Amino acid sequence: MVMELKLLGAGRGRLGSLAGLGRSGATALALPGCLLYTRTGSAPHLTHDTLRDVRGVPGVAQLPLPAMAEIHDVLEEYKEGAAKFIGMPDTVLYCSLHDPASPCPSGYNTNKAVSLWGSSGRMELTASKFMDIQRAIQPDWFQCISDGDTVSGEAGRKRAKKSVDRSLSFLDECLQLQEKSPELRGSVMFGAIEGGDILEERLRSARETAKRPVGGFLLDGFQGCAMAKETKLKLISSVTAELPEDKPRYQDDFGPVLEGCSCYCCQRHTRAYVNHLLVTNELLAGVLLMMHNFQHYFGFFSAIRDALRDNKLDELKKLVFRQAQQM
Ligand SMILES: [Zn+2]
Repeated sequence: MVMELKLLGAGRGRLGSLAGLGRSGATALALPGCLLYTRTGSAPHLTHDTLRDVRGVPGVAQLPLPAMAEIHDVLEEYKEGAAKFIGMPDTVLYCSLHDPASPCPSGYNTNKAVSLWGSSGRMELTASKFMDIQRAIQPDWFQCISDGDTVSGEAGRKRAKKSVDRSLSFLDECLQLQEKSPELRGSVMFGAIEGGDILEERLRSARETAKRPVGGFLLDGFQGCAMAKETKLKLISSVTAELPEDKPRYQDDFGPVLEGCSCYCCQRHTRAYVNHLLVTNELLAGVLLMMHNFQHYFGFFSAIRDALRDNKLDELKKLVFRQAQQM
């Protein structure tokens, strides 16, 4: 993995690309960028063929762990890893701990295990069980197991400290297990930065995680609206200042629905028609909306990169805020 970055100065961000990704080393990801959201390797509602009609699909797909953990036995027996199993041998796979599109109830993590929520309910994963599953998936990148149960905004200092301590201890155990796993020699582990909304715990988490041999970082616990926007921005900028510049960072966010674009759906169908499909529970509604949403989301990241390149990020920001107010 080669990361080429152009640093645009204080507050102006990082523009660049991650190249040499995947088993063939032929995939690149433009930065800032997003990942393709999937469930068990499929974009929701879309076939592999339909996905080809969406412009700007990123070369890296997110594979949430809960659905993969449920087919662990099958994957283990298959032995050749998830990419080939799900029919995406050329896509770079990032295995995230949770599914950002599914709720994750609070109060189920312990010092020994983290709870995942799949279609058949709760699964408890210890570090060693987690690494067994990663050995079967053989992802290109994966998020280390961590205790991120501080999203509610009422977690407090003690709970924030515990989330950092537990996550570091899971990380150390997983790094040791990775050393002993030939199946995971080509996989890169991301360490999660935890600590809720307590700045000193966030900083401790960032510093301690950066000392370990991880391939990148996940800024966990910033999804959703539980945390005030100002707190969120302050924590993210303080935490990123502690992280080395030459490793990728990832933040979970599935993104909103936007309107008006050049996608397959908008080019061919009216709003009234899509609304009709929704009301009558036609499966096509999901397909069309997913194509629209994906293209918008991927296009949004492309616009951010263009704005960074042309030093017009402030103008883009103003435009986006103006549009958001009109909605
Ligand atoms: Zn559209």
